[in-house]
Amino acid sequence: RRAEAAQHASAASATGTGVTIDVGANVGSVEDARAAAANGADLAGLVRTEFLFLDRDQAPTVDEQVAVYREIAQALGGRRITLRTLDAGSDKPLPYLPPPTEANPFLGVRGLRHSLTHPEMFAEQLTAIVRVARETPVSIMFPMVTTVDELKAARAMLAEAGDAPGLQVGMMVEVPAAALRAADFIPYVDFFSIGTNDLTQYTLAAERGNAALSNLTAGLDPAVAQLIDHVCRAAGDTVLVSVCGELAGDEEVVPRLIASGVRELSVAPGLVPLVKRAVRAA
Ligand code: PEP
Ligand code: MG
Repeated sequence: RRAEAAQHASAASATGTGVTIDVGANVGSVEDARAAAANGADLAGLVRTEFLFLDRDQAPTVDEQVAVYREIAQALGGRRITLRTLDAGSDKPLPYLPPPTEANPFLGVRGLRHSLTHPEMFAEQLTAIVRVARETPVSIMFPMVTTVDELKAARAMLAEAGDAPGLQVGMMVEVPAAALRAADFIPYVDFFSIGTNDLTQYTLAAERGNAALSNLTAGLDPAVAQLIDHVCRAAGDTVLVSVCGELAGDEEVVPRLIASGVRELSVAPGLVPLVKRAVRAA
């Protein structure tokens, strides 16, 4: 019975009308990757690489990063892993880099902005990711992209780090400016991954962790839904749209996301079976 349940969990999920939706897991440790596999995840749709960089005296070396990314891929049985480059900021300071003093860290030097201001460290992470992508299916994505120029700068640095056949390159869509300009980013990406946690925060001007504002930030706000629709329309059949924010794990919201054109969801490992069920019911 357990083997049957596991098989059911890992089977591909398609809607009632036959649209295949990959259901991945959000992973912040090797342990999470094991939990993702046990829950039948089709891929790791978001690997938050911060866990490798925080709470230590020095940045991880290229070799250390390669070893951990490889371990995550192995834990997932060689299924695709989506490595998000470091999403650091002054709200999550790195002990070995002097954190800037910022009145509003969520509006500060974070995500890709942070990586582009620390090019040596960024180059090392890109080198590690390219190396792993030569061995196993890897997607890379950049967090907090705001302008096309930032994305081009990141892609230029990625090109410097070398080639890996099969490496898919994408960006998080979590800043309203990027959602509105989705069409302008399309020539430079293979996929979009919508980060609804930050997209909601920035669209509604409501801090994501502030419990007093949960009436604004819990659930799919109509303004955020419009941005998601806009991104999907711009993407058309050219670029895959994934959602990796909390909303992807809300079974009430899943059918709405699929109707918009979202074709991949990534959620906490324990929610994978529930989301697969929601997809099959849609
Ligand atoms: C998001 O912003 O929705 C997201 C998935 O990224 P994080 O929660 O790591 O900021
Ligand atoms: Mg985010």
